[in-house]
Amino acid sequence: MKFVSTRDAEKKELSYTDTLLAGLAPDRGLFIPSEYPQVSLDELKVLKDTAYTEIAFAIKKKIIGWDIPDDTLRELVNRAYTQEKFPESRNGNITPVRKIEKNFYIQNLSLGPTAAFKDMAMQQLGQEMNYELNKRGESLTILWATSWDTGSAAEAAMKGLESIKLFMLSPQVWMSEFQRAQMWSLSGDNIYNISIDGRFDDCQDMVKDIKGSSEFANLWAVNSINWGRISSQVPYYFSWYLQAVDQVGEEVDFCVPSGNFGNVLSGYIAKKMGLPIRRLIVATNENNVLEKLFKTGKYTVTPADITSSPSMDISKASNYERLVYDILWRDGAKLATYMKQFEESWSVDLTDFWVSISDLKELWFESGSSSHAQRLEMIQYVEEKRAWVIDPHTADSIKVAQDLRDPNIKTICLETALPVKFEDTIQEALWAIPERPEQFVWLESRWGDDTFTLLWTDREALKDFMRKNI
Ligand SMILES: *Cc1c(COP(=O)(O)O)cnc(C)c1O
Repeated sequence: MKFVSTRDAEKKELSYTDTLLAGLAPDRGLFIPSEYPQVSLDELKVLKDTAYTEIAFAIKKKIIGWDIPDDTLRELVNRAYTQEKFPESRNGNITPVRKIEKNFYIQNLSLGPTAAFKDMAMQQLGQEMNYELNKRGESLTILWATSWDTGSAAEAAMKGLESIKLFMLSPQVWMSEFQRAQMWSLSGDNIYNISIDGRFDDCQDMVKDIKGSSEFANLWAVNSINWGRISSQVPYYFSWYLQAVDQVGEEVDFCVPSGNFGNVLSGYIAKKMGLPIRRLIVATNENNVLEKLFKTGKYTVTPADITSSPSMDISKASNYERLVYDILWRDGAKLATYMKQFEESWSVDLTDFWVSISDLKELWFESGSSSHAQRLEMIQYVEEKRAWVIDPHTADSIKVAQDLRDPNIKTICLETALPVKFEDTIQEALWAIPERPEQFVWLESRWGDDTFTLLWTDREALKDFMRKNI
């Protein structure tokens, strides 16, 4: 297996572990397989009714090739997805399916340590990075700014890994109590939580400035564009498929709540690898640039509004570039022109690149959006129908699936977080606070003055703090 950058016309090839440690390509393109590996229906049948770790091993093996030895890969997968980290899972099924009504399902991706689907990829990414760094005798210092789910998922995944140190900046304002507690209760060992007396943009600016200095050269990001993360999300599409179908070979639709286009892109890759997916339905919230894109071919960035499904409040979906690469016939030069236009004017139109709307339709994507009121309605609907409480992002996917699904085939909506993370919105919808899974009871009492460091927006102070701890 070899990988290329989306912006490289020459298609220079790299190995899996090179893409893993590089994150972004030097030409600022994203890594993608030079050819999608294939999984046959016979291979799929063998995986039916096996544990998640079996499926994850088989699919990642296809993607990685020989770059990580089989025994090692098995070990990494087994360490990423343990019963301890996924305490509510049963018989090794960490992504269980539930039926809402005939041909309509929810698949839970949020049984991991931080109750959101980011755990699925982060856990595996942490293990793979730690393995490869140790093998190369290298170490990694990560400086990162985040205000949402990704931060705690990264901390939970990197905690205790000997070759990685993680410095996490977060703004004092903006975070919910629950999210803050999730992050700050993970401090210690190799994890440093730094609270910046400023806003999220200040944190990001500090990260950018420090990344530019040669002293801290290896501050790689492990953000959502890392190919290791995208590829670690592919197995769960196989897992759900195998749980939901009566007959291997039957086609299903998936509906995915989307922001950065990472999750649904992994579904697209699963389809490219041979998983019988008929359509991928992209669900957005009020920030519906992706919906407009699939309907018109035109991508225009507008400032994202803050909504009650905040992890989808994104208007520049960074992983979308990987799909455009395929749409533009895997022509790196053309893609680079397209992205240049996008980055200069924040607006670009696929129809200017000889792609028609019917070409786009043939890509099997469909899309729709949901509003705050509709989100609340869906939370109420699922509660009344099944007595399950769903989170606001999952509600967006239920809403869009209801509008677009074909009742004659199975549609699977992805549940991307547990409601416990968004108590205010649940309270608004149901007049009650969702029950907390055992591991989150008393969460807010698990941090104190000694689990975070408060700094002003002062670059030198931050550098000093890092020097002292590296
Ligand atoms: C990150 C996130 C999303 C959006 O996923 P993308 O891969 O960015 O499209 C949706 N829901 C939740 C709860 C998330 O944390």
